[in-house]
Amino acid sequence: MYLIIGIILIALGIFIVAKRKEEDRRSQEVHTCPRCLGKGHVDELDIARLKREADWMTGKCLYCNGKGKVLGSMIATIPADEQYLNSSLDATARKLFVKGDANQKRRAELFNTSLNIMKEEIIGLYTLQHLSAGDIATKLIAERGIPKSDYAQFVVWVEKVIAAQNRE
Ligand SMILES: [Zn+2]
Repeated sequence: MYLIIGIILIALGIFIVAKRKEEDRRSQEVHTCPRCLGKGHVDELDIARLKREADWMTGKCLYCNGKGKVLGSMIATIPADEQYLNSSLDATARKLFVKGDANQKRRAELFNTSLNIMKEEIIGLYTLQHLSAGDIATKLIAERGIPKSDYAQFVVWVEKVIAAQNRE
């Protein structure tokens, strides 16, 4: 009886080790970037596929950093449309975030939450108060301390957020 239990435990141990090795191997495998599909840059089709019309412009892919390839471990932990991986993130912060740094993860959550809150506010001002994109931009710039010099760019973004809402 003990022998059988012993054999089962050994078999189980081998199975667990093999499974872990398989997971390690998979996480180190190089894959085609799920955001840009290997091109190294995102185009209109990638943006539409990931439903980021309001948030992204075409250009260098910031998921694979223009390489077109990423590790399996990254695909397993970070979604292709992760908004935190954008052009305002510096190289050091990006590296830490990809490695799973807790502080960077918290910053990413905060960033995504405040972005979503701002989008909801824009939609609310547009649908409930019938404000124009220009009026919404003026209001948010005044309330949030956004530099006035960013006004033109900000209006374009507000228009995109409204357009994305209308598409849904
Ligand atoms: Zn990419």
